[in-house]
Amino acid sequence: MAIVQNDATERSRQILIVEDEPSISGFVRRGLIFEGFDVSVVDNGTDALLQMRDNPPDLVVLDLMLPGIDGIQITQRVRAAEEAEGTPRLPILMLTARDAVADRVNGLDAGADDYLIKPFDFDELVARVRALLRRATPTSTNNQEVLTFENITVNLTSHIVSRDDQVIELTPREFDLLVILMRHPNQVLTRQTLMQRVWGEDFYGESNVLEVVIGNLRRALETNDQSRVVQTVRGIGYVLRSQ
Ligand code: CA
Repeated sequence: MAIVQNDATERSRQILIVEDEPSISGFVRRGLIFEGFDVSVVDNGTDALLQMRDNPPDLVVLDLMLPGIDGIQITQRVRAAEEAEGTPRLPILMLTARDAVADRVNGLDAGADDYLIKPFDFDELVARVRALLRRATPTSTNNQEVLTFENITVNLTSHIVSRDDQVIELTPREFDLLVILMRHPNQVLTRQTLMQRVWGEDFYGESNVLEVVIGNLRRALETNDQSRVVQTVRGIGYVLRSQ
C-alpha cells in the first residue's frame, strides 16, 4: 500500500452518510473509512437532523429518497438554519436515482452542493468529497471582506470590483449576481437559485431578466479578449468557471 502523505486535518474530517439502503451505506462507509475519514451512518431524516445538530459533520453524503423526511427537506432545513444562525455552509453531496433529472435540479435548488447519480464509482465519490471539503476550507485567514476568482476581485465592503486591476462598474443587480457566483466558484447554480437570491423569494414568472443581467455582467467582465468566466449550463443555470 502506498504511503498516504496527507495532512492530519483531512484524516480527521467527519462525514455523515444518510442512506436507507444498507448495501450502499455500507459500501460508502467502508470506503471512506479506508480513505481516512471519520464516518457515521444514519438511515433516516430524523436521525440525520439530530446528528447534525448534536455532532456537526464536515460533510454530508445525503440520499435524496429517504423514508419520512427526504433529502430535499433535510437540505432545505440545514440551509434555513445556517441562514438564521449565520453558521458556515455545510457541504452536501446528494445521491440521486438514475435518469431523475428533476431530482438533480431539485437537489441543487434546495441547496445541495453537488450530486452523484446511482450507481456511482467509489473513486468518483471520493473525488467529489475531497473537492467539496477543499472548497469549504477558507483559503484566506484575513478578515478583509474580499472575494477573488482568478484575476477578478470583489471587495464586499467598498463594493469595488476589478479584473486585472481594472475597476469594473456594475449595477447593484449585477454586483449581487457576481457575489453569489464568486461565493460558489465551479458550482452550478440553477436559474431558480440565482433568481431567488438576487430578486428575493417572491419573484415569479418566466421572464428573461436573469439572462439580461448575466449578459450585462459578461459584457462588463469580459472586455478586451478576456476569457469567459460566467458559463451557461444548458437547461440548468450558470457557473463561474474558467474555460
Ligand atoms: Ca433511498
